[in-house]
Amino acid sequence: MTDSLLVRGAAHLMTGLPGAAMRATGGSDLRVRGGVIEAIGTLTAEPGERLIDASGCVVYPGWVNTHHHLFQSLLKGIPAGIDLALVPWLAAVPVPYRRHFDHEQALRVAARVGLVELLLSGCTTVADHQYHYYPGMPFDASAAVFDEAGKLGLRLVLCRGGQTMARVMTDSAAPPQAAPETLDAFMAAIEHDVQRFHQVGPRAMRRVVSAITTPNWSCAAEHLKPMARQARRLGIHLHSHLSETFDYVKWAREVHGCTPMQFVAEHEWVGPDVWFAHMVHLDDDEIAFCAKTGTGIAHCPQSNARLGSGIARVPELRAAGARVGLAVDGAASNEAADMLSEAHAAWLVHRADPRAGPRRDASREGGDAAAMTVEEVIRIGTAGGAAMMGLDGVGTLAVGMAADFAVYDLDHPRFFGLHDPAIGPVASGGRARLRALLVNGRVVAENDTIPGLDLAQMRREAQALVDRMT
Ligand SMILES: [Zn+2]
Repeated sequence: MTDSLLVRGAAHLMTGLPGAAMRATGGSDLRVRGGVIEAIGTLTAEPGERLIDASGCVVYPGWVNTHHHLFQSLLKGIPAGIDLALVPWLAAVPVPYRRHFDHEQALRVAARVGLVELLLSGCTTVADHQYHYYPGMPFDASAAVFDEAGKLGLRLVLCRGGQTMARVMTDSAAPPQAAPETLDAFMAAIEHDVQRFHQVGPRAMRRVVSAITTPNWSCAAEHLKPMARQARRLGIHLHSHLSETFDYVKWAREVHGCTPMQFVAEHEWVGPDVWFAHMVHLDDDEIAFCAKTGTGIAHCPQSNARLGSGIARVPELRAAGARVGLAVDGAASNEAADMLSEAHAAWLVHRADPRAGPRRDASREGGDAAAMTVEEVIRIGTAGGAAMMGLDGVGTLAVGMAADFAVYDLDHPRFFGLHDPAIGPVASGGRARLRALLVNGRVVAENDTIPGLDLAQMRREAQALVDRMT
């Protein structure tokens, strides 16, 4: 007997690697052993080896979701916020609805719903910006989210958020479950979570990140340096929201006389160990600064479109050499926690961006069909996100890397007639079915099913919690 597994016969293999190396040549079989990819090529089965037949399938690295709020998975499509922009939406949905997350089961069911949907889209690593913490909280939110991800076999980066200051714009009628913590309590909680959960190593299954909810509105400016210094002392990354809407730019200009990037740089929140969600409103200098400092961006095109926030300048960020990952953001501003939907949106929005054409060619109006390729979307959504979060052994299909990959089954009318099946899961949209999904060498889904998961029960639990909110 052998402990290896062979995925054999895939039509195509997209590696996540740069340039022409994106498409594997010389065979697309993968052998997995000890949690890593041991070999790629045309491989012969070993005696007793477990086989997964990938005929008619394409293989991608597992998607790396770099920004989410799993607790929002029970807050989809709330009518009071469906057509609102960011600030009124925050005041109408995520803030007041936090009162419903005053017990552990609500958080657990929400996290499970989000994680299961992500998993079924081929996502293997999830960064959850979990900011639902409050003084006197009667349950351990960090432990609950890690436990839910662990049960599904997913890699989780817990971005421990929260606030040390009430946000005037949105919190005027905030429930006690949205009350701020003190700076000391926040920092003690970060340290405690690092001690309990954080793993080092390039293929870590559990990471902890210090992640105050926004550097401008969730804490006093003087709280930022102690947070950054603590994170560096503990050897963890920093994450937050930045420049999602023009409000951030206006605030930085009016209050501090600088750009948002200059503000966070002054407070030591830049560098290769920092990434921010959104970064929609960046000027040319800020783009160059992100590239120079290695500061990363979690690109959330669906949420940015849904809230009318705009389109991030990702093609220019990438051209400048900046680090970019892909993310679904919370389900309260994106009714799909699906990395294939997100990838499809990323592929489309930059081509349709009316600024894209003139930027590349002044004689053109409208968009630019070459502004974003499927290959680039895959790179951002896999290797890009993993590198940005310091998971250097994750995100590409190469020998020695974590065996995190999705085997997509293209046996569906959606994909019939495709001349280049390798691009199907991104270019055709929808959700390609999973022949298999592996995380760290473990099969966590097969034939579009998660073993041991009772979907009907999960639906009933989610519906019961939604019914109590309405
Ligand atoms: Zn967010």
